[in-house]
Amino acid sequence: MPTDAVQSLLDLSHALGGERLRMSILGEGNTSLRLDAETFTVKASGSNLATLRPAELTVCRFDRLLPLLDAPSANDQEVDQALFAARVDEAARKPSIEALFHAYLLTLPGVACVGHVHAIAVNQILCSTRARDFATARTCPDEVVMCGVESVFVPYCEPGLALSQGIRREVAAFIRRTGRDPKVILLQNHGIIAVGPSPKAVLGTLLMAEKAAEIFVGAAALGGPACLTPAQCERIAGRPDEHYRQKVLGL
Ligand SMILES: [Zn+2]
Repeated sequence: MPTDAVQSLLDLSHALGGERLRMSILGEGNTSLRLDAETFTVKASGSNLATLRPAELTVCRFDRLLPLLDAPSANDQEVDQALFAARVDEAARKPSIEALFHAYLLTLPGVACVGHVHAIAVNQILCSTRARDFATARTCPDEVVMCGVESVFVPYCEPGLALSQGIRREVAAFIRRTGRDPKVILLQNHGIIAVGPSPKAVLGTLLMAEKAAEIFVGAAALGGPACLTPAQCERIAGRPDEHYRQKVLGL
């Protein structure tokens, strides 16, 4: 694996699991990076983002995992076998079960990195009756820049194959309906995924989404968030100076 790529993924992982952000604790969350057209590296099962080491990253082949998404009846044992078989190095640790959705998301245009966490403010909303509102609400211009005009919302699915299939279904429906590639995917009663061209971009999107969630929760306590209108969001998303900022920020 290229050393710079590994280091950038480790830096992202340490930030997400670190004491300052606490977007994930213990074995929560996972990160991944596309290495080339055939392979990607992802957090190994049972490892901790805050202390992730190079040996806890497992290089996997896309072509061993993607077919599972078309196998609705695959059982836990078959999924486990596919995870082991996807490893490029047989001595490597078993990849996280969420490697399935990482594999899919890393095939989307412009996506080279994926970060998934159980952030507290975001989950306050995703575990409430306002969960779906948060996917479409945008309260500040910077949220539009970093998180897009809308997020994908995935109704609760059991972690594992069902969740990965649910993510693929909702992302495909989002792209068909909006004509846009998503930056943020919200998992009801579970957590958030950010996708982007680099670990730096994924970190920026997750930081902004968590901040937006804190604002949404606070505004809900003061009578309800006053959101930007769709036209205001479109204007921000379409402004040339915002495109320049996105470029500078590596988005
Ligand atoms: Zn999770």
